[in-house]
Amino acid sequence: MGFFKKSQEDRPSIPQELIDLRSAINLAALPEHVESVVAKELDRVEKTDPSAAEYSIGLNYIEYLLALPWNKYTNDNLDLGRAKTILERQHYGLQHAKERVLEFLAVRTLKSQMGSRILVVDDEEVARENIQRVILKEGHHVQTASNGVEALEKVKTEEFDLIITDLKMDQMNGLELLEATKKAGSRTEIMLVTGHATVDSAVDAFTKGASYYLTKPYKLDDLRAAVRKIVEKRQLAQITRGPILCFSGPPGTGKTSIGQAIAEAMERKFARISMAGLRDEAELRGHRRTYVGAMPGRIIGEIKNLGLKNPVFMLDEIDKIGQDFRGDPASALLEILDPEQNRNFRDHYLDVPFDLSSVMFIATANVVENLPAALLDRLEVITFSGYTEQEKMRIAHHFLIPRQLDQSGISGQWTQFTDEAVSLIIRDYTREAGLRNLEREIANVCRKLALIYLQEGKDGLPSVVDAPLIPKFLGPRRYRHEVAEAANQIGVTTGLVWTEFGGEIIFVEAARMKGSQQLTLTGSLGDILRESAQTALSYVRSNARILNIDPDFFSETDIHIHIPAGAIPKDGPSAGVTIALALISLLTGRPARRSVALSGEITLSGRILPVSGIREKSLAAQRAGVNTVVFPESNSVDIEGLPDQVKNGLEFVMAGDISSIVDLVLDAVE
Ligand code: ADP
Repeated sequence: MGFFKKSQEDRPSIPQELIDLRSAINLAALPEHVESVVAKELDRVEKTDPSAAEYSIGLNYIEYLLALPWNKYTNDNLDLGRAKTILERQHYGLQHAKERVLEFLAVRTLKSQMGSRILVVDDEEVARENIQRVILKEGHHVQTASNGVEALEKVKTEEFDLIITDLKMDQMNGLELLEATKKAGSRTEIMLVTGHATVDSAVDAFTKGASYYLTKPYKLDDLRAAVRKIVEKRQLAQITRGPILCFSGPPGTGKTSIGQAIAEAMERKFARISMAGLRDEAELRGHRRTYVGAMPGRIIGEIKNLGLKNPVFMLDEIDKIGQDFRGDPASALLEILDPEQNRNFRDHYLDVPFDLSSVMFIATANVVENLPAALLDRLEVITFSGYTEQEKMRIAHHFLIPRQLDQSGISGQWTQFTDEAVSLIIRDYTREAGLRNLEREIANVCRKLALIYLQEGKDGLPSVVDAPLIPKFLGPRRYRHEVAEAANQIGVTTGLVWTEFGGEIIFVEAARMKGSQQLTLTGSLGDILRESAQTALSYVRSNARILNIDPDFFSETDIHIHIPAGAIPKDGPSAGVTIALALISLLTGRPARRSVALSGEITLSGRILPVSGIREKSLAAQRAGVNTVVFPESNSVDIEGLPDQVKNGLEFVMAGDISSIVDLVLDAVE
């Protein structure tokens, strides 16, 4: 290329590594805008003393730019049948998620298969017709214009994928058309055709945003190849354009696994980039090279590792971006996810734009409710929910156990797990909405089997892993059945809450002591939960008589409300009803039934308002061995929508206000 004319003889003192670098640059087909930056940097490094820090900084920078996959990508496999088979083969259930993923791919496929719309602009009729003929043959839709002004009119009313324009024209020339089109906000690709090419005019055209520069006279084959290249690049970007999929749900429910399956189906590379605890915007966007030890951000870093510009990136836990994130987290992430902006993504280290528009981003979040609206707006949220015990059992038998046995080098024909054994692991060794710990415990058992196999041979292996073997392998059970095993108590009620880990069971404890009308709240409670407690207390005080409580109970008393598992921060309005019943139990001396679990927001007048996460809470109730669940009346529709498996073993009571459930939750005075 014209930029690298200096010969080695002129500068005998240039180190060999720079000479090698120069030839590497000449061989690497870098995009024009990168090539000029690299050339400038190399010139600078050549003038720098090799012992200076700037020398190695510059050298590393050039090598980094050279190593990036500016134009390397894999071709997508858009065979939907194949995608479906892969999703099905690796996942049980998740029908809703699988369908949405397939629809998503189908829309992208269709869009990319439609012929492109191309506008040909030339003041010579013969030239126009020649180009038109070639392009029609390629299966695209063509329109023509005989000058820039006419072309611009068309651009304003219609969207084109590509404009092929002559450079020299009356009224408005090609470059002016290019500028006006870009100014109008159009994303159209533009190819300039000219008989008067100079390096300067080409550079000018590229800086202004042209995609290609074709010099006359050209062969029709060159034109065809150039059009194909541009259209292909655009289609690739189109597949990834549109809303970003966001998989939301508790840990271990298959979000990563479905993401990997999408990548496998499309034959793209896959990488996870964790957003949890990102403290610094530079972790995403890199550090400027002026810093010693500056590095590109994680996005560009992964692109370089994979060596391809169109991987599937799973941005994990975008709801957990650190709060003390320096810079602006929302805007950095928004820019990365916005196909309009990410074509020219600027990593601070690279300092030249890198096109991220062909990366397929998938986000995951445990809870999407707290995401900034601007971000949520860009996401197509697919909800993953927790699994029932039956589902876990099936997934364990069909997927987790075969995989773990295999990884431990044990054949599934030598030893099998009984249903009772799996059920015991699920109930006594894990307590979760998803499958992470279950898979971990199964892996534990398989490792123990592998050890037996090594020490005693195949004959030493048990032919079935049954329930009595589990404590031998995994030790004493890890979870107690708090609900089934504990006695009813005064002032202690059972509640259901929805957290980022799925549904969870909580216990609310209330105690009173002599004092001066203080309400103490402990257990890492958030503001909303504290307000719920205040509301519950005021409700009880103002309705004391109806509730058979001494109206003066608070005059010389302090009340303490505690929600155990204090290290875990808790918040949300749905514990209101559980706190109210704990207080009523305490003040009436009636023990509360452990096996009745409550969830509902309350008002001062004692009405119970609807809550979210009904499915997750019901699953948590099943896991904990609760038999009656009290939900707000206005959640009836949600209950009707629950599959039988999620309702099994539970009695649902729909309540409109607190006073109506007192006798259900509380026993008679002992
Ligand atoms: P997440 O990303 O939601 O935290 P993962 O995708 O890591 O969850 O899932 C945890 C484990 O459970 C993985 O080994 C995954 O393959 C498995 N898994 C989750 N859901 C299913 C399912 N529906 N069918 C089969 N395996 C599953």
